[in-house]
Amino acid sequence: MKSYLSSTVRQLKPSGIRRFFDLAAGMEGVISLGVGEPDFVTSWAVREASILSLEKGYTSYTANAGLLTLREEIQKYMKRKFQLSYDAHNQIIVTVGASQALDIAFRAVIDEGDEVIIVEPSFVSYAPLVTLAGGTPIAVQTTQENGFKLTAEQLEAAITPRTKAILLCSPNNPTGSLLEKEELEALTAIILKHDLLVLSDEIYAELTYDGSFTSIASLPDMKDRTIVISGFSKGFAMTGWRLGYVCGHPDLIEAMLKVHQYAMMCAPAMAQYGAVEALQNGEQDVVDMRKSYRRRRNYMVQSLNEMGLDCHVPGGAFYVFPSIRKTGMSSEEFAEQLLLKERVAVVPGNVFGESGEGYVRCSYASSMESLQEAVRRIANFMHQMQHA
Ligand code: PMP
Repeated sequence: MKSYLSSTVRQLKPSGIRRFFDLAAGMEGVISLGVGEPDFVTSWAVREASILSLEKGYTSYTANAGLLTLREEIQKYMKRKFQLSYDAHNQIIVTVGASQALDIAFRAVIDEGDEVIIVEPSFVSYAPLVTLAGGTPIAVQTTQENGFKLTAEQLEAAITPRTKAILLCSPNNPTGSLLEKEELEALTAIILKHDLLVLSDEIYAELTYDGSFTSIASLPDMKDRTIVISGFSKGFAMTGWRLGYVCGHPDLIEAMLKVHQYAMMCAPAMAQYGAVEALQNGEQDVVDMRKSYRRRRNYMVQSLNEMGLDCHVPGGAFYVFPSIRKTGMSSEEFAEQLLLKERVAVVPGNVFGESGEGYVRCSYASSMESLQEAVRRIANFMHQMQHA
């Protein structure tokens, strides 16, 4: 058959995470530290609010930008948590997950050939979404020695006359690294000097364990040039609800709303009613989940370091990113052998970019019992490797 596919899509590679899940899906007794989602079920109050909206028959489209009540709750939340003021009427759009927020942000700002700086290791969607929007992703590699944090020097060196924007993700997927205020300040000096736009993916903002989360948008002169992207999937354990949001300057939001209204119309109404409840009354749930993740993070970091898998302490999110270099295996080999021999699924670091090679991503959003069993199996695997 003739190929009807666009050349852009033809060149796009499927997500590197998928191959492992296909392999793991055909096996019994696998402990998965692979998926990037909370092991908690969404709180009952949130589910009930959504059910109630259905019982009341609230089944129509909402405003394109989302229910005004929800945007007002987001407005209050951004103010309360991050000291950021956005007008609910023209500075916030409710989206279908942070994923769609990223998509409309890129499509609203990128012209053919514009360069967007992506800090690797990074979430797998950024570069493909930039490509789909007609832009050119420019990867900058961070290292474990720097805590997987971009330095001002690296940023400066990556900027060309075609650079339009930089995407920052803190706390980070897959490394868990959290950019402290002073580190963000060092970057903003370069961003302002070169007049760049920032897309700040803050989906893990609720899940920080040491230090405190600072939104780059809250730093001097940064708010108008920053698009804040966030959502309910991680902090509120609502991945399947597909709900996120963007906040930004009215001109940017107006442009994103055009893309959103044609491509999506609006986010699902029943999910939006649930999210109102999450923001109004869900903060204690977030606090409890954060406490539980923190305990599990400490356990994983300590256990992996004890077995010689060098692992920095991630400041946020729910991933540890140990180095597997001492095994002499590539990330793919390590992940494949660990799955086949010990039935533990992790994600090879190379799928997150060049600097992810030599590492694997383990999610600790699993029960403590599963983590303990996974640790036992990984230790066993390391023992076998050393005596092979
Ligand atoms: N950004 C990052 C860094 C993520 O890890 C994820 C989910 N894995 C997303 C965005 C997408 O989240 P959502 O479910 O809100 O689309």
